[in-house]
Amino acid sequence: MKTNPTASVVIPVFNEQENLPELLERSLKACRSLNAPFEIVLVDDGSRDRSPEMLREAAEKYPGEIIAVLLNRNYGQHAAVMAGFAHAKGDVIISLDADLQNPPEEIPNLYRKLASADLDVVAGIRVPREDSFLRKIPSWMVNRITQKVTGVQMHDYGCMLRAYSARVVRAMLQCTEQSTFIPVLANSFAKHTAEIEVKHAARSHGTSKYGIFKLINLQFDLLTSMTTFPLRLLSYLGAVIAFFGLALGLLILVERFIQGPGWAAQGVFTLFAILFIFIGAQFVGMGLMGEYIGRIYRDVRGRPRYLVHEVKGVSRLAAP
Ligand code: UDP
Ligand code: MG
Repeated sequence: MKTNPTASVVIPVFNEQENLPELLERSLKACRSLNAPFEIVLVDDGSRDRSPEMLREAAEKYPGEIIAVLLNRNYGQHAAVMAGFAHAKGDVIISLDADLQNPPEEIPNLYRKLASADLDVVAGIRVPREDSFLRKIPSWMVNRITQKVTGVQMHDYGCMLRAYSARVVRAMLQCTEQSTFIPVLANSFAKHTAEIEVKHAARSHGTSKYGIFKLINLQFDLLTSMTTFPLRLLSYLGAVIAFFGLALGLLILVERFIQGPGWAAQGVFTLFAILFIFIGAQFVGMGLMGEYIGRIYRDVRGRPRYLVHEVKGVSRLAAP
């Protein structure tokens, strides 16, 4: 990475009017201490309070430093961050939450870490995590499942205080899908990643924008964005059921010869065996359809097929 890379800070804002003044002040201070050109892109995600006006005023007050992107309605945190990415011009792009749970003072640390080693992603780990117990349980589950599914052992996928290289952000912007889970998507395009510990504060104003349904939705976004394994699960389940039915049928047949016709409730169990075989076959059929749906889904998303990290050497041939 070049020396003194430029920085963009992307912050999604949804009904955060009480937090904005302090957020702006602390973020500006942190960014000015970078000694590099920077911009702060604040994305209003359809707030219903005074946030949009406050962002507009801030953009007027700090020209060249603050950019306000106002969305027409609420699209969700990850969509808002993507909108911010689309407007970010920096070499290093840092995202954080607007509620001051992620201290803006960590921006220089993330920036330096990413710039120093030509990394693609620097993720924050929140220590100690200042959230309610009920908010931590789903996060813990999300982390475990994501680690399993992606094979990337990051500690805190829920932490949005992260830094990305411009090439990874550009690759993410090429993904046309509607539902995205940014930390996971970024990892799928990253070559070298690192983690650093960041501070975490309790929410001082307002409440968490994530209710139980939004969290469930996020979990499904995450799962479906990474894998079509659940579809394949249907086939496996079907195969197991069908095998069980077949084994039961065989057992009944053998016992019929040993114990005589009265055994196994006059053929009722035989019906069960047949039923299991057919149910299993149905599941296998559904799983097969799932395989096709999974492939359609992958193609429809139109993600970049690969991301070139580097090309060395120049071709002497003229372009055809
Ligand atoms: N946010 C957003 N749109 C939403 C929900 C949240 O832009 O629909 C923003 C919110 O303003 C905050 C960040 O995303 O800056 C994280 O939200 P929150 O603090 O409510 O989540 P939690 O800390 O509980 O994970
Ligand atoms: Mg928060």
